[in-house]
Amino acid sequence: LAMPNTDPVVDTAAVLGALVERARAEAVVPTGFMAAISKGQRGEELTEMAELAAAGASAFTDDGLPVVSAGLMRRALQYSGLTGLPLALHCEEPELSRDGHAHEGVVSAELGLGPYPSAAESVMVERDLALAGLEERHIHLMHLSARESVDALRRALEAGVDVSAEVTPHHLCQTDEAVRSLDPNVKMNPPLRSEDDRLALVEALRDGAIGAVATDHAPHARQEKDVPFEEAPFGVIGLETAFSALYTHLVLPGALRLETLLERMSAGPARAFGLVEPRIEVGARANLVTLDLDAEWRVTEDGFRSLSANSWLLGETLHGRVVRTIADGREAFAGGQVLHSHTQQVMR
Ligand SMILES: [Zn+2]
Repeated sequence: LAMPNTDPVVDTAAVLGALVERARAEAVVPTGFMAAISKGQRGEELTEMAELAAAGASAFTDDGLPVVSAGLMRRALQYSGLTGLPLALHCEEPELSRDGHAHEGVVSAELGLGPYPSAAESVMVERDLALAGLEERHIHLMHLSARESVDALRRALEAGVDVSAEVTPHHLCQTDEAVRSLDPNVKMNPPLRSEDDRLALVEALRDGAIGAVATDHAPHARQEKDVPFEEAPFGVIGLETAFSALYTHLVLPGALRLETLLERMSAGPARAFGLVEPRIEVGARANLVTLDLDAEWRVTEDGFRSLSANSWLLGETLHGRVVRTIADGREAFAGGQVLHSHTQQVMR
């Protein structure tokens, strides 16, 4: 699923339709597109959600930016309800995160970096859960990073709110201690937080309160990141390393079962967005990967298929690797090569 915070913003049926056509012609795996919640992602006026749904949107999000106005968020829940598509929310209170470059804690204080507190996320999580409960609508919380947010998610699930949530590989594997390197490739939004936050995320992924791993893949050109930490943009890539990073950092040390990781990277995300859950079954379209769990490989800048290499894993040796991918019944990746067999379906 691709995000709409591109240039141009995916906020009209015309822009979305062009992307859907291009994916039909070029994508080698089923690809879906989220459309913006607000026009231009400016947080002022809702997009034409019914038209965007008809043009093939998978969900609505203003990702990269929060929906600051509570009134607009409530109307977004009401209108998205008519389309049956979920809202995927980037929870951030900008008045609390302003000028923040790292998690508010010992590390940001010692380095003198602008603090981005956990509460900047969790107060917005609490607001959005309250509104989703009020409107009885499904919301999906993206890239949770803080224990306080996980606690709010658990209370809402207990109260019967229709909510799903995701967590990124970098928040599951790293803490703000990594920021001491001042490497711009450990600068993301939300920021890496404390070990206590990381443990809360792993526990929630393990017990299913957080049902999905998502990469929050954000490519940046080298020159954009080749600046001092405080000037660098937020965001790291993660698609090509997601499985190996989590296998190395969580499964091998015994923090997560392999079966659980595979579920949270396949059926879990499908469920969160109302997509068909992949099954291995006679007569079903094959959607599966072959893993080499004994593989050992080093993450290098020139090893990415992505045009960008802004990875938090550069130089690290990882274990386990995807060696073959079959998507929608066609071989999409094998022998280290992407195979170009076209006419792929578009997900929604
Ligand atoms: Zn985001």
